[in-house]
Amino acid sequence: MHDKTLTEQASLLKARSISSVELVDHYLERIARLNPDLNAYLCVDEEGAKSSAQAADKALAAGNAGPLTGIPIAQKDIFCTKGIATTCGSKILQNFKAPYNATVVDKLAQSGTVMLGKANMDEFAMGSSNENSFYGAVANPWQRDRVPGGSSGGSAALVAAQLASAATGTDTGGSIRQPAAFCGITGIKPTYGRISRYGMIAYASSLDQAGPMARTAEDCAVLLQAMSGHDEKDSTSSTLEVPDFTATLNDKLDGLRIGIPKEYFGEGLDGDIADAVHSALAELEKAGAILKEISLPNQSHCIPAYYVIAPAEASSNLSRFDGVRFGYRCENPQNIDDLYTRSRGEGFGDEVKRRILIGAYALSAGYYDAYYLKAQQVRQLVSNDFTDAFNEVDVIAGPTTPTTAFKTGEKTDPISMYLNDLFTVSANLSGLPGLSAPCGFSEGLPIGLQLVGPVQQEARLLNIAHQYQQITDWHKHTPEGIA
Ligand code: GLN
Repeated sequence: MHDKTLTEQASLLKARSISSVELVDHYLERIARLNPDLNAYLCVDEEGAKSSAQAADKALAAGNAGPLTGIPIAQKDIFCTKGIATTCGSKILQNFKAPYNATVVDKLAQSGTVMLGKANMDEFAMGSSNENSFYGAVANPWQRDRVPGGSSGGSAALVAAQLASAATGTDTGGSIRQPAAFCGITGIKPTYGRISRYGMIAYASSLDQAGPMARTAEDCAVLLQAMSGHDEKDSTSSTLEVPDFTATLNDKLDGLRIGIPKEYFGEGLDGDIADAVHSALAELEKAGAILKEISLPNQSHCIPAYYVIAPAEASSNLSRFDGVRFGYRCENPQNIDDLYTRSRGEGFGDEVKRRILIGAYALSAGYYDAYYLKAQQVRQLVSNDFTDAFNEVDVIAGPTTPTTAFKTGEKTDPISMYLNDLFTVSANLSGLPGLSAPCGFSEGLPIGLQLVGPVQQEARLLNIAHQYQQITDWHKHTPEGIA
């Protein structure tokens, strides 16, 4: 059952060949057996899952089923779930039970999905390897001594290991696409504002966006449909009508203009990845697309700009964790300063502290113009590069990551970790949709192909990835040891 895609499982559920209760029990057994080695789930809501599955089976029996009714999923632990632990991968929220659901959680529940549990992640979504979780690193199912990517590393690993039909992720600078690439699955970060951020714990509010992670582009399309739409509780959520993402999956690619940024194929890119991406592009060309070299002249400034803007916003967003209102509080505070200092000092991990310090520094009076303002100007230049490129091409394609999954513990200095985000942060800086789909292997480790499109063009990206998945089978490979 677990080897089927979400869409295939939905057909079986609809035909009543399997029930949601059976599917949920099946995954619960797999989680109990396989999760201890992977550490992909932080908590499993067995009771909640069983009762939602029963309700889904009733709806299915009554003929009221939608495309997601009875489908078991995991939620990244950044989403508030009412009455269920919501830790954001941090000690500071260790005992926090959210008093309400994130809009994404409500919407997916209303669509009939069954939440199996919460997925491990880098603390406050800061990281590219999932090694920054207070609750321990996640193992990559393809090679257990490798990282699954981050920050949605738990989500990616559990989808790759088939411990749920799909999962949610969030992407501030690549956290859906990079782990999707490292774990050989498909993930899409939609246009900024496509999905409500209400109840999604904020990291860098102008960059954060939720999205689905699944085995195929088709599965992602179904999930994205359920997650998208305006929400009056998030004023930055788009009021534009949500298109039918599945309706155009089968469109042909004839005449599609794909831009290949020359800056993506320079120094730092692993040779096997370059080869795999070029082969993928050749497949798309055979399917009717037209390839065109383009330039994104400000590409080399993306990482420095991102690593000023994201920490600046984080330092502001994380000021709410003060040991007073909710979350961890130190023992026996002597006075209010001691309470703040020790609660935050003991509650946050090193990377989070580093970001808060960098952000506070960049925003401080004497440095604001030199760092934050400059980074915002660079952000505009990066965005202009895309606007220019989309005058010439319909979408942009390239590698998702410069390397395949690296070894746990291998990257010790923060800068080398940040460089993993080389190809992903620009879509966040510009608010554009980006997708990663499997396009090959290097020494047994998956490689991701990234597609970036103009604003609101998720349907196009899903269409291209779906067409690619009709002519290739990279997305069908599965790791060993997950039977
Ligand atoms: N790796 C990036 C960071 O650490 C992106 C994280 C994300 O997208 N949440 O900030």
